[in-house]
Amino acid sequence: MDAKLIDGAKLADQVKAEVAKRVAELKARGVTPGLSVVLVGEDPASAVYVGSKERTCIELGMRGETIRRPATITEAELLAIVDRLNDDSRVHGILVQMPLPKQINADAIVRRIRPDKDVDGFHPVNVGKLLIGEKDGFAPCTPAGVLEMLKAYGVPTAGADCVIIGRSNIVGKPMASLMVQAGVDATVTVCHSRTRDLGAHTRRADILIVAAGRAAMVTGDMVKPGAVVIDVGMNRVPDASKKSGTRLCGDVAFDEVREVASLITPVPGGVGKMTIAMLMANTVRAAAQLTQ
Ligand code: NAP
Repeated sequence: MDAKLIDGAKLADQVKAEVAKRVAELKARGVTPGLSVVLVGEDPASAVYVGSKERTCIELGMRGETIRRPATITEAELLAIVDRLNDDSRVHGILVQMPLPKQINADAIVRRIRPDKDVDGFHPVNVGKLLIGEKDGFAPCTPAGVLEMLKAYGVPTAGADCVIIGRSNIVGKPMASLMVQAGVDATVTVCHSRTRDLGAHTRRADILIVAAGRAAMVTGDMVKPGAVVIDVGMNRVPDASKKSGTRLCGDVAFDEVREVASLITPVPGGVGKMTIAMLMANTVRAAAQLTQ
C-alpha cells in the first residue's frame, strides 16, 4: 500500500479562505477581528512563529499586532500588558508566545488572559469547556487542526480506535478530549513515556496520532495496515546535505509507514500548516462572540 498524503497546506488555505469571508462579514458591521501576540525575548523559533501569525492576520484582513518585550521583563509587567489587552475592545484574541523566561510563571500569565479572548485555548476555563463539550470555548489550535484534517478527508471516527502518543496539555490531552467528544465518537487510548508495550497499542489504531517529539519513533511495524497516521512531531535532525546542516523530521518514519498506512500527513506540509489557520479561525470566532 502507498498511503495517500494529507495536504495540510491546501486544507489550511481552505480554512483561511473561509476565515477571510467571515472577516469581511464582520467588517461590514464595523468589527475588524484583532489578534495581539506578545513575544518575550529573542528565541528565533518563536520569532518565526509570531511573524507568520501577524502576517497571516493581515493577509486575511484582520488586525494583527506583535508586542515585543525583552527577556528581562518582570511578571508584573507582563501581567499589566495582558490586563491592557483584556480591556482593549479592538483586541479579540490574545496569545502570549511560549516559552517564557524563567522568572515568569507561565501558568499565571495564561490564567490572566480573559477566557473569551484566549484563542490558544490554554486557559483552564477553555480546557474545561473542551472536556465537557461546550462549543463556545476555544480548543488548542494544533489538535483542532488535526480534527479538521480528519473531517476534511472523510476519515470515519465513530467507533474507531484512536491511539494518541503524547499527553501534553498542548497536544495530547486536548486531542484526546476532541476525539472522544460526542459527534466524533472515537475510542481513545492515550500513550506516554510510561506506557508498556507501545507497539501493542499503536497496532490496534485505526487512527494513530503521534505527538511525542521523538524523531521517526513510529516505525512501519507499529502501524496497522490501512491506518490513518497523523504526525504532529516537528524535530530538527542533522542533515549534511542541507545548507543549514539540519532538516525537519516528524515523529513517524515516513517512508516505511507510508507503505502500511492508507492516509498520512507529511512533515513539513501536514499538521504544522493547519495550526496557524485554526488560530485565525478561533480569533474570528472570538470577534463574533465578543461583539454579537
Ligand atoms: P511534550 O510536551 O514534550 O510532550 C511529549 C509527550 O510525548 C509526553 O507526554 C511524553 O510522555 C510522550 N513521549 C515522549 N517520548 C515518548 C516515547 N518514547 N514513548 C511514548 N511517549 C513518549 O511535547 P508537545 O508539546 O506535546 O509536542 C510534541 C511534538 O509535536 C513536538 O515534536 C513538537 O515540536 C510538535 N508540535 C507541533 C506543532 C505543530 O503545529 N505542528 C504544535 C505543537 C507541537 P511523558 O508525559 O510521560 O513525558
